[in-house]
Amino acid sequence: TVALKDVTKVFPGGARAVDNVNLDVTDGEFMVLLGPSGCGKSTVLRMVAGLEEPTSGAVLLDGELANDLPPGERRVAMVFQDFALYPHMTVAENIAFPLRLAGIEPNPRDERVADVASALGIGDVLGRRPSQLSGGQRQRVAMGRAIVRRPGLFLMDEPLSNLDSGLRAELRAEISALTRQLGVTTIYVTHDQAEALTMADRVAIMRRGVLQDVGTPTQVYGRPATLYVAAFLGSPR
Ligand code: ATP
Ligand code: MG
Repeated sequence: TVALKDVTKVFPGGARAVDNVNLDVTDGEFMVLLGPSGCGKSTVLRMVAGLEEPTSGAVLLDGELANDLPPGERRVAMVFQDFALYPHMTVAENIAFPLRLAGIEPNPRDERVADVASALGIGDVLGRRPSQLSGGQRQRVAMGRAIVRRPGLFLMDEPLSNLDSGLRAELRAEISALTRQLGVTTIYVTHDQAEALTMADRVAIMRRGVLQDVGTPTQVYGRPATLYVAAFLGSPR
């Protein structure tokens, strides 16, 4: 489980990027963090990943402070908007990279890479380099690299925002299916309402650093907690 307790983040010279947020994500849940640009979504995700420290409050991963865990023990995988693949490596090498870092032997490694690649529909391009792939294929490679070590927690920050709408819809469904098949706890950041409502087990809606509402898509859409949430989701009045 992930637990944010009274988490506030103030950047030096900046406003409150995250303002007293309390949020629990249960094991195996697909939580979507939704809100407009600048509301603090990425900052929350970076604190959960242990990449950023809260100014006050605590982020707990299975009861342990996210910042206290050494990077190798976090079992957290993150996928970003820009994919960040290694351009000089093949698809197979990109996916295998976290295994190599962890010192895992070549044989089981190849098998795992092949399994992950075929689950993501990129089994036929393992020998190519990122420059020889479509945007959707690149994003699949980034996801493969993130999940190859079977993380306990999967964090995605607007992973589809660079793709066209047809591909977005396709990958939405794939990501949902894959994370549920793996049973991995996921926090997925987006500013896209439709994406949030179609993918989430629960949605957490932020505005200017403040958590406005948390609930299932049906709950937040049908019974929004604030006028802001109603307007943002386009809920019927
Ligand atoms: P977007 O949808 O545009 O990615 P976001 O919801 O992810 O936005 P954040 O990146 O978390 O928003 O930023 C929240 C606020 O904190 C913004 O006002 C931003 O300018 C500020 N901020 C983020 N990172 C830093 C930083 N390293 N230093 C100073 N201010 C920052
Ligand atoms: Mg962001």
